[in-house]
Amino acid sequence: MKCNACGAPLEAGQEKCTYCGTLTPYGEEKFKQREAQKIEAERQQRLDNLPAMKFVPASATVLLYIFTGTFYSPYWYAVRMKSLNSLGTKAKLQAWAVGIFAVLMFATFMLPSYDLTASGISEELSENIYNTVLALLILVSGWLAYSVKNILQEHASQFIGKTNAVQSIANSNLMLILFGPAYLQLQVNKMIKMNMFAPKI
Ligand SMILES: [Zn+2]
Repeated sequence: MKCNACGAPLEAGQEKCTYCGTLTPYGEEKFKQREAQKIEAERQQRLDNLPAMKFVPASATVLLYIFTGTFYSPYWYAVRMKSLNSLGTKAKLQAWAVGIFAVLMFATFMLPSYDLTASGISEELSENIYNTVLALLILVSGWLAYSVKNILQEHASQFIGKTNAVQSIANSNLMLILFGPAYLQLQVNKMIKMNMFAPKI
């Protein structure tokens, strides 16, 4: 074997020519192997450092949503808040809004069973109170879902760029409004599969 660059004799297993420093074919092969190992190690480290989010199978998400009624929503926001807000995104989920959301949901649930007119409130006012609570509930609900959508998209854009993140993560506003956290959980599941989150069991 001779060096391809300077013609100096090479010994078997030599990675570089001792005279001119050119890599031997064996040296080039070794270099490629080490590069591949480095890339794999970096990939593994990135995966190890991923923030964790809870994975809930789609079927369980749907069942929870149906059987706990809409109460799954404030629960979901409350238990996911810490994980979501520790992602370091500019968008945040506001604790006070989650609190107001839970209160509004409870009020919407309880109000119809109370006869407000018995405490001297006119029927019209009583109806207005209910409608106002309901309107506020829908407003806060939409805002919370929108906040989480922004958090998820901002997090995803680190991996796939902003345009792709906006197009592929929680991209249906209709689903977001109709199913809120159930839809958002499915997005989290998807992001776990895309290696953007580590699954938290
Ligand atoms: Zn050489």
